[in-house]
Amino acid sequence: MSDENLTMIPHGEDYPEIRETVRAICANYPGEYWRALEDKGSYPVEFVRELTEAGFLSALIPESYGGSDLPLRAGGVILEEIHASGCDASSCHGQMYMMAMLLRHGNEKQKQAYLPAIAAGDLRFQSFGVTEPATGSDTLQLKTRAVRDGDTFVVNGQKVWTSRAANSDLLTLLCRTTPLDRVKNQTEGLSILLVDIREALGKGLTIKPIDTMVNYDTNELFFDDLRVPAENLIGIEGNGFKQILDGMNSERILLSHESLGDARYFIDKAVAYAKERIVFNRPVGQNQGVQFPIAKAYAEYRAADAMSRMAAALFQSGRKCGEEANIVRYLTAEAAWNAGEACMQTHGGFAVAREYNIERKWRAARIQRLAPISTNMIMAYIGHGVLGMPKSY
Ligand SMILES: Cc1cc2nc3c(=O)[nH]c(=O)nc-3n(C[C@H](O)[C@H](O)[C@H](O)COP(=O)(O)OP(=O)(O)OC[C@H]3O[C@@H](n4cnc5c(N)ncnc54)[C@H](O)[C@@H]3O)c2cc1C
Repeated sequence: MSDENLTMIPHGEDYPEIRETVRAICANYPGEYWRALEDKGSYPVEFVRELTEAGFLSALIPESYGGSDLPLRAGGVILEEIHASGCDASSCHGQMYMMAMLLRHGNEKQKQAYLPAIAAGDLRFQSFGVTEPATGSDTLQLKTRAVRDGDTFVVNGQKVWTSRAANSDLLTLLCRTTPLDRVKNQTEGLSILLVDIREALGKGLTIKPIDTMVNYDTNELFFDDLRVPAENLIGIEGNGFKQILDGMNSERILLSHESLGDARYFIDKAVAYAKERIVFNRPVGQNQGVQFPIAKAYAEYRAADAMSRMAAALFQSGRKCGEEANIVRYLTAEAAWNAGEACMQTHGGFAVAREYNIERKWRAARIQRLAPISTNMIMAYIGHGVLGMPKSY
């Protein structure tokens, strides 16, 4: 069945075998597991290993390189089901969302070198270095420079919020190879380098963890005359911004599925509690003040789910999908946040007890309104990029 026809399948029911298997794995990792990791600030090694061994993290890799060759929607379903089960895919989703960029722009030698090892779980391709401390959302102004010197690029600069860098072997690095004053358009002159973190650490790359409100393994990266082999250039030198958009669109669509999973988690939990908690001699969910916010969250989730199928189908067909990728990122993040709010209110004081797992999921759902792109930047894109109104920057 084509992805376009998936809109006819009820929510939460396409790819039923994948959903069932992912749920079975997630059942081994209950709330206690995630809370204990948070206490120690540790990475979910066992969880990621089990998903890797089951082949879920290589779902988007073509069969000829050892993967399952599944469409983007199937990857999204895996992430959605992880989140709907109360688990967290932020530890391992990088490999999925960077895959389109590597498949579309990597050369055959690079694919042979990396993809089979990634599919086998011998190589972790998890880290994506775009954001910088000084320039933030203004990606085209990024300052990290790579200068060609013989067979290598020499990299100097800094990244921030580079997630999973301490638990990845490879880093996708966006850097400037031609200075801004020497390009006609600021979208030109950026390039993508694949950095082997294992070789780079201590030889020009330093990783410094950032202490955050979620257990996210996100870091500051410092580059000091790091030498990266020129053969690690992905695609065409100077064309990196256009190429990285493939990674960013798939990232927005895939991570939207995590928000759909969060919304389902919150709604299911809220509905169950609303029916069972008796106060004033009746279930709290009989009160419309409790019931309606859950119903509203459900309606928002359904609309966001339909949009996610459209965005994934467009991406899969190779058609333009920037508008849909941004809209679905917005709608799903809002749906998850509102579902989290409804779940919190339904649970009253118990919502903040850690053992209920609501506050943990709520903190994580909040991040999705900031990253990988913040709500304002989505609105700016729709405002000027889609609707043609004046640009504010
Ligand atoms: C947990 C986490 C993980 C992350 N992981 C990664 C990662 O793996 N790799 C990576 O490269 N990045 C990552 N990021 C970075 C993330 O993509 C950025 O935080 C996000 O894009 C916003 O950039 P900023 O934080 O610099 O905000 P800023 O650019 O400083 O913006 C601050 C605020 O002002 C608003 N704003 C700025 N300019 C405008 C404007 N013109 N109009 C309207 N509003 C505006 C923004 O929307 C934002 O709300 C991560 C961030 C977090 C929090």
